[in-house]
Amino acid sequence: MRDRTRDLLELDRTHVWHPYAPMPGRHTPLLIDSAEGVRLRPAEPVEGHTELVDAMSSWWSAIHGYRHPVLDAAVRDQLGRMSHVMFGGLTHEPAVRLAETLVDITPEPLRHVFLTDSGSVSVEVAAKMCLQYQRSLGRPGRHRLMTWRGGYHGDTFHPMSVCDPDGGMHSLWTGVLPRQVFADVPPAGFEAEPDPGYVAHLADLIERHAHELAAVIVEPVVQNAGGMRFHSPGYLRVLRRLCDEHGVLLVFDEIATGFGRTGELFAADHAGVSPDVMCVGKALTGGYLTMAAALCTPEVAEVIGRGEFPVLAHGPTFMGNPLSAAVANASLGLLLGQDWRAGLRRIETRLRAGLAPAAKLDNVRDVRVLGGIGVVQLGHEVDMAAATRAAARHGVWLRPFRDLIYTMPPYVIGDDDLDLVAAAMIAAADAG
Ligand code: PMP
Repeated sequence: MRDRTRDLLELDRTHVWHPYAPMPGRHTPLLIDSAEGVRLRPAEPVEGHTELVDAMSSWWSAIHGYRHPVLDAAVRDQLGRMSHVMFGGLTHEPAVRLAETLVDITPEPLRHVFLTDSGSVSVEVAAKMCLQYQRSLGRPGRHRLMTWRGGYHGDTFHPMSVCDPDGGMHSLWTGVLPRQVFADVPPAGFEAEPDPGYVAHLADLIERHAHELAAVIVEPVVQNAGGMRFHSPGYLRVLRRLCDEHGVLLVFDEIATGFGRTGELFAADHAGVSPDVMCVGKALTGGYLTMAAALCTPEVAEVIGRGEFPVLAHGPTFMGNPLSAAVANASLGLLLGQDWRAGLRRIETRLRAGLAPAAKLDNVRDVRVLGGIGVVQLGHEVDMAAATRAAARHGVWLRPFRDLIYTMPPYVIGDDDLDLVAAAMIAAADAG
């Protein structure tokens, strides 16, 4: 067993390129053999634990936990029919049902669904939709996007161009990426009223750049991988008004916030605002398989359809994958078939209580919780290795970044495990 683990990790180090890691590998990932419920099973015990509670839910996607019998059965059942078929010229029930459900649960008037194979690609597609919409209206000069600083929208080129440009993950590409328009980071605080100065700043930027703007794209209410910041839903209403006034489309990237994570089904619902285009992903398939989507309004689709090039030129090989669509249907069925709102409230309340003592630590700058998101922000960069080890000592898998120790646990996590996650985060903050 030890030899197998050692061999695999050596091969991993030699050949496998991990996300945001150097090559050849100077990192030591944890070898995971299986997972069940909210627990990962490493090949060898970690800090004395044969199982770790996954406080990250596989990058915020495994909302129902691992090996859920309903999701396992959905994949198995679909495997018995077909695992894949091209989506060009063909269609199938899992994709059609999924589109129907997505249209049903997302804000009106989103009506059309473009299925993609990752969140980043759904942002690419959203950008294409917006640029093509403006072009079809005879406004090809409107090809830039506006966003606020501190965001994260994915790792392909258009999404990178609207990520945080200041020392963020993609600052290497400054000068190569499309040049976009950036507002300041929105003022912090979910409960806060919109700040009039910031509203004026948004208004000024949109007004000055409207002639070259196709769309404004933001992560509604929570900026996730760019810094786990919460802001007032009121800014979404402001953006809706300003975009309407200036013929600019509004895109919400709900890839991280969608499907209940912030306590509403979509973060846009906190504000009662509908975007023109919306991206979803991550929890869409319950974290089982890769699928995301860009939804748009009839207006966007119809204008594109009237243009000189009336189709959306995008067609990935694995578009509408039936296995992904089948498990997405099962995952949405599970979510919507339960009192998800009460479930998220339970997680929020428990995390709030569990994380409260963190505020007393000298090195902690802020503690914040919203729905199924708990964040401890330090006054300095986290020592990743020390923090991860401290969490593992509690039997919890955490993956801190920058100055942030955070959790987005599976929704099926029990109260005792939530307490464990909170204790692990406090220990990680203390150690890191
Ligand atoms: N947008 C947001 C808000 C995200 O959080 C992420 C992933 N962290 C993405 C886009 C990119 O999604 P993917 O990793 O599936 O390409």
